Amino acid sequence: MSQVGDPPAGDESDVGEDGRATGATERDDGDDGDDYRVFWADAYADEIEARDPRDPIVVKGAVSPSGIPHLGHLNEILRGYYVAEVLRERGHEVVQLFVSDDRDPLRSVPRWLADADFTLVGLGEVDAAALGENLGVPYVDVPDPFDDGHASYGEHFTQLLRTSVERVGVPVEFVRTAELYETGQLDDAVRTALERRDEGRELLAEYQAGVDDSYVPFMPQCRECGRLTTTVTGVDLDAGTVAYRCEGLEAGGQHIAGCGHEGVAKFREGKLPWRFEWPAGWAALGVDFEPFGKDHAEGSWPSGERIAREIFDSEPPVPMVYEWFTLGGESLSSSSGNVVTVPELLSLVEPEVLRYFFVLNPRKQRDLDLARVDRLVDDFDRFEATYFGEVEPADDRERRFAERAYPFVVTEVRPDRVRLPYTFAAVLGMTDDPDLRLAMARREGHLPADAPDWAVEAAMARVERARGWAEREDNEYNYRLQAERPAVEVPADVQAALDDLADAVATGLDEDALQGEIYEAARRHDVPVGDFFAVGYELFLGQSRGPRLGPLLAALDRAFVVDRLRGAG
Ligand SMILES: [Zn+2]
Repeated sequence: MSQVGDPPAGDESDVGEDGRATGATERDDGDDGDDYRVFWADAYADEIEARDPRDPIVVKGAVSPSGIPHLGHLNEILRGYYVAEVLRERGHEVVQLFVSDDRDPLRSVPRWLADADFTLVGLGEVDAAALGENLGVPYVDVPDPFDDGHASYGEHFTQLLRTSVERVGVPVEFVRTAELYETGQLDDAVRTALERRDEGRELLAEYQAGVDDSYVPFMPQCRECGRLTTTVTGVDLDAGTVAYRCEGLEAGGQHIAGCGHEGVAKFREGKLPWRFEWPAGWAALGVDFEPFGKDHAEGSWPSGERIAREIFDSEPPVPMVYEWFTLGGESLSSSSGNVVTVPELLSLVEPEVLRYFFVLNPRKQRDLDLARVDRLVDDFDRFEATYFGEVEPADDRERRFAERAYPFVVTEVRPDRVRLPYTFAAVLGMTDDPDLRLAMARREGHLPADAPDWAVEAAMARVERARGWAEREDNEYNYRLQAERPAVEVPADVQAALDDLADAVATGLDEDALQGEIYEAARRHDVPVGDFFAVGYELFLGQSRGPRLGPLLAALDRAFVVDRLRGAG
């Protein structure tokens, strides 16, 4: 079990480097010759196979439908997906489950929500008071704050989770926790937890503060107000009921009050506390593998592992702990709105780039910086080119990682595919003219003459994404190429320098040479360099500043640039 939670490094990427040891030095499996271990998913697949599981192997992930589903939640999907795919490659039948924990209670009112189209909506735009009244009520019983046809808050956000998963192309079976209770799939677990509640209480008290003699591992749902309560006044195993007084529960560091009602709940009318529900789910669903965040690794995993074995007499799954990542250096938080949703990221990068982000070593903290999403795409392009042997990898490990992991990242390995460098695509995005975009890409040698139509189309699709990025970040690519020559006063000495530059462009200089020639031409004619650049930007972009001019001019159609510089077009 020594590899649990401590898999070998799977990549050498420096995305969001956290300052710890990188790449090969982080490995501790001591088996440099084993290609399998170069990809972490193989290490987990080995561990699962070592238990001799029965097919289908069950891989699970779970999220509470508590608010805006964001990229961090995909850890629960994509980490498991890679392990599932490796197992499938080895001939196993695998079922990947994604559980929406919709019987969890609403613990606090989030400041930000998202409508059915993933548009972020502030609390002020929904009925916040109605949400406040439903604190302590399971998500599946809280009214949907958006009047958009969902039966509940839980269904609204479960639907957004479902859409997110579909958009990244991972086949999962959706399961709702409330449904597991309603259909009796957790009846046995509830009965066992209640039968063995003294053992359970003693065990849990070793891990959790505040577990006293009154603790009962079941939270009935109040028939009057719908809230869950932790105050159980009696257990009748023969009748299959639990008596309660509705005194609410502790959640999010505060006490949520109940209504005081005294009543009796059946085993399906309530829920196990999370510390018991998690292992109960492993047993009920036959889970063989589950990834989870490091909060659980320190919290409910150690107790859950024992509860599974000692209370439910079942073997816990092979665990996998993943590090969280940050967004622009800050923690992801649905409630505070520091999130990037799946549709939002997919408007900037291809699905395979998103999937690539999650194929990297799960034990490394990473930052996703949308301002520099070009770097993530560059890393992906390099990973892909390494797989196809088109670039020289930094070392053998980078090559072996690409060779092993790449086929799982793309839906189909296609040697003919073409990628435009992301920032070059952003330059092309300065014009809306598709023919001009295409001409510029061909001219710069980014589209091989024999590239098939589908590959050209797919490559050019990156231009829209990079354009969206330039606009979103309002960065050095957020300019519009002027189709007509703007009316610019050009003094004779400046025009002479422009003519020199036009000659240089006509000879086909590359971007760096052209950048140098801009300085040279200005100097030759005693034009202040700053003024010269300003005129150049005015002529092409209709404003006095812009991206590096040399690369921009090199990318544009040669005849078009020459005419524009000479004042002819
Ligand atoms: Zn109540």
